[in-house]
Amino acid sequence: MTNSDNIIIVGGGHNGLVCAAYLAKAGKKVTVLEAAEQVGGAAATREFAPGYKASCAHLLNLLDDEISKDLALASHGLTIAKSSLDTIALAEDGNHLTITADSVDGTGLSNEDKAAYTEYRRFMSKFAGVIGGLHNQVPPRITQERGDLVTLGKLALKIRMLGRDDMREFLRIAGINIYDILKENFENPQLKGALSLDAVLGTFSGPRSNNSVFTALHRMSGNNPGPAGAASIPAGGMGSVAQALASAAAQAGAEIRISSPVSKILMDDTKVCGVELSNGEQLPASTVISNADPKTTIMKLLGAQYVEADFARRINNIRARGNAAKLHLALDELPDFKGLNHAQMGERLVIAPTVEYVELAFNHCKYGEYSAKPVAEITIPSMHDDRLAPDGKHVLSAIIQYAPRNLGAGWGEGKAAFTEVVMEMLSAYAPDIREKTVAIELLTPEDLEREFRTTGGHWHHGELSLDQFLMLRPVPKSAQYKTPVDGLYFCSAGCHPGGGVMGSAGRNAANAVLGA
Ligand SMILES: Cc1cc2nc3c(=O)[nH]c(=O)nc-3n(C[C@H](O)[C@H](O)[C@H](O)COP(=O)(O)OP(=O)(O)OC[C@H]3O[C@@H](n4cnc5c(N)ncnc54)[C@H](O)[C@@H]3O)c2cc1C
Repeated sequence: MTNSDNIIIVGGGHNGLVCAAYLAKAGKKVTVLEAAEQVGGAAATREFAPGYKASCAHLLNLLDDEISKDLALASHGLTIAKSSLDTIALAEDGNHLTITADSVDGTGLSNEDKAAYTEYRRFMSKFAGVIGGLHNQVPPRITQERGDLVTLGKLALKIRMLGRDDMREFLRIAGINIYDILKENFENPQLKGALSLDAVLGTFSGPRSNNSVFTALHRMSGNNPGPAGAASIPAGGMGSVAQALASAAAQAGAEIRISSPVSKILMDDTKVCGVELSNGEQLPASTVISNADPKTTIMKLLGAQYVEADFARRINNIRARGNAAKLHLALDELPDFKGLNHAQMGERLVIAPTVEYVELAFNHCKYGEYSAKPVAEITIPSMHDDRLAPDGKHVLSAIIQYAPRNLGAGWGEGKAAFTEVVMEMLSAYAPDIREKTVAIELLTPEDLEREFRTTGGHWHHGELSLDQFLMLRPVPKSAQYKTPVDGLYFCSAGCHPGGGVMGSAGRNAANAVLGA
């Protein structure tokens, strides 16, 4: 193969597309190779039943505003169908709580809890800002070099700038569990249950697990306008974010090839020299940037023989045990959720009745079982966007936890049984849901792993926790996106600042390549 100044990006997930767009705008020759028939990875909108569409990632709350503006995503077709959704904490008896960015309301809620919620949002939003301030930075190395020391100094300063009391509180709570924090602040079990869900969605943890405060803060840490963590529904599903990014990248000159699975990253002695597709075609490149998760990149696409044993060991040990399943229901009509009016059905509905319930739901996973009583984050996006379902019909999209990747009994048998558990659970809140359902798709972590090629079917490409954050993400010696292999970079959610449709890992990786 002749060498080339071409840059190849393996994977057209949203981070790969962001990376491609920034590099192409900087005048680089970029080719994106996406295995699937469309770009977007877990954020693609797909048809799951004739005429019914949904995206696995369904709520937009982290997309970096600077990226949206730099890439002019609005001019590439990105619009929001519904912004700042309320959260409705469902109760089987129909006495729901409505949780907004600055208030909570519902039967049986005390004035003390209402006031405590306002204060909780104040300090959590402020602390999330510290994490958000790091999103667009290439993480510092632990060295004596000036640039790294300046970045570390800025982080220390941000924490100090919280003020004495808030700084102490931030340092006290950042590494501990949400169960304790909720117990300190609230009485109402339903409120605690709903808030605990934000701390565990997409992770292999329960409310009593260490770091669950950190994951709650991460969820609120997006650098975008509006209240911290506010969730929106993009028109056309999350796939429209990917489509807008692909359009921006293509306009800047990037070539995007779909249905092009990469089977190997090719080495010329000690340096990357291109990739090989599964059909045997070889493409030369001086730089390869991987949007596949770090473990897949090194252990499957490159080969551990090209890196030091210690690096391979750390990559192999990245914790990435997927735990969330995704449910899509094609509905003939809207189901009748007890106690919800029509407008409320368009909000974010959560099933997490108490924090103890959530913890018990997680317990099963430790033993390779799915939850007998799972938790759920539910949206009905077709209420805001009629292109997602045939006329008058609807789509229900729900993240269902806990469903461990490595189910003891195997998902071959487990899937149908778990689907039944989930439908039974939903029926307790919407008794007619089975009658209204014309098609069901349940994607287990095993399905997600196969469909999106992510280790463990983990939606963050690696657990989001303090031991896998900033200069430790994905592992030391590659946290600055450049791997120890000359010419090979990471750009996926497995890198800083992690998962969610955010784009920052893609942009930071582009900056690392441009600064190289
Ligand atoms: C069930 C579920 C629900 C989620 N819900 C939300 C949510 O509501 N909000 C939110 O913000 N986030 C959510 N997420 C997380 C979010 O989807 C991910 O963090 C995000 O998609 C990661 O983006 P990425 O570009 O880094 O990787 P991915 O989206 O995983 O994309 C990687 C791409 O690389 C491609 N690829 C991999 N290997 C190869 C290869 N060898 N050759 C060619 N191509 C390859 C894949 O096909 C894929 O397109 C959810 C994730 C899941 C799974």
